[in-house]
Amino acid sequence: MFESLQERLSGVFDRLTRRGALSEEDVSVALREVRVALLEADVALPVVKDFVAAVKEKAVGQEVLRSVTPGQQVVKIVHDELVAMLGGVAEDEGAQAGQPFELRGLGLNLNVTPPAPILMVGLQGSGKTTTTAKIAKRLAEREKKKVLMASLDVRRPAAQEQLALLGIQAGIATLPIVPGETPVKIAKRALQTGALEGYDVVMLDTAGRLAIDEALMAEVAAVRDATKPSETLLVADAMTGQDAVNVATAFKDKVGLSGIVLTRVDGDARGGAALSMRAVTGCPIKLLGTGEQIDKLETFHADRIAGRILGMGDVVSLVEKAAETIEQDEAEKLAKKMQSGKFDLDDLASQLKQLLKMGGLSGLMGMLPGVGKIKNQMKDAKIDDSMIKRQLAILSSMTKEERRRPEIIKASRKVRISKGAGATVQEVNKLMKQHQEAARMMKQVKKMGKKGMMRHGLP
Ligand code: GDP
Repeated sequence: MFESLQERLSGVFDRLTRRGALSEEDVSVALREVRVALLEADVALPVVKDFVAAVKEKAVGQEVLRSVTPGQQVVKIVHDELVAMLGGVAEDEGAQAGQPFELRGLGLNLNVTPPAPILMVGLQGSGKTTTTAKIAKRLAEREKKKVLMASLDVRRPAAQEQLALLGIQAGIATLPIVPGETPVKIAKRALQTGALEGYDVVMLDTAGRLAIDEALMAEVAAVRDATKPSETLLVADAMTGQDAVNVATAFKDKVGLSGIVLTRVDGDARGGAALSMRAVTGCPIKLLGTGEQIDKLETFHADRIAGRILGMGDVVSLVEKAAETIEQDEAEKLAKKMQSGKFDLDDLASQLKQLLKMGGLSGLMGMLPGVGKIKNQMKDAKIDDSMIKRQLAILSSMTKEERRRPEIIKASRKVRISKGAGATVQEVNKLMKQHQEAARMMKQVKKMGKKGMMRHGLP
């Protein structure tokens, strides 16, 4: 999967990264090619449109970092947007525990009173039964779970026997077959057996159909209601492209899904399904089926896939490093300022700009846990991003000299500044006062010295 898309995109970006300076025209041409490449990979049109618009907006507004070319920076923006389109980067527990990628769990929610029911749904031939056995085996081997599998497919001849056979091959228990039972009855019996015999997970392999139909949806919904699954996974064939996306949308609306398993990604699917799935359905792709054998199952990682599509991992990490250096430079500059005890209005302006860049006050506050109340108070006091922008307007209406030596700003200058910024003299006064406070704090920081700062809990 992704081979031809990768080839096309790497051509576009090779050309782009080799240029020293980029014009808006260069970016537009490159994005036009990206658009065509994505459409040819069978990505849904609205998804392509949103993607290109997001990249364009970010590329145009972005400051150019030192030590990388604008072209390289565009690659990084495209990469980040790809990751976002694929569902973003999730922090998984294995990563935090420093476990090697291959040994990490599947990231499925099994956090319920055991046995945790996992409902497998999808069309016939999508790879549902195979995937059920793959997941069961992985949970048993890597996560040391005791897993029971049950086939609820009473329509397709020998479907239950197929799962029983896979169970024997994989060393996973299957629910004994009782002829004549309805899917809901089998599901209930599976959960009862699971509870009685101490299973951690019960995997329910539902019947598929050749296409979406009402009877299928009603049957799956009835099983869902009877079992309250902790995961409802749709198995979808990547080779079917946009159809897979439509199937996912139908299942999501009628049954509800907690995740998607994309199978046959080892085939020559163009990748469109993988790329549009998340954006269209809002459901995360959790796992990938990468072959017929029972161990061919991979956890889905948006950044890995994006890396594979772009094939430009080195450029991406280069730009990340450059961005980190800039942040460090700014932090060091501020630290030096604090140590010198000086803090003029230019410093205030650059601080406010930095604040806006980081998503403004609301963005910053959003990152802190438990600040809902403070946020409301801020709203009441009208402390928001538009206020920061007003303050920046006031600061830019001052002369360089005024910003460097705020003490020269007397009444007549205040009137001029306020008029230039479309603000009131009171607003100018308020800003000056705010600056004095900040400058006073800087002096204190200087007095305290490094040790004192630590004792007072300042950074
Ligand atoms: P179901 O009807 O949805 O239960 O589909 P099955 O599990 O019976 O699978 C149908 C066919 O697809 C079988 O021949 C599987 O071996 C094959 N299959 C399943 N998953 C994959 C995969 O990830 N890659 C490949 N190449 N084949 C797969």
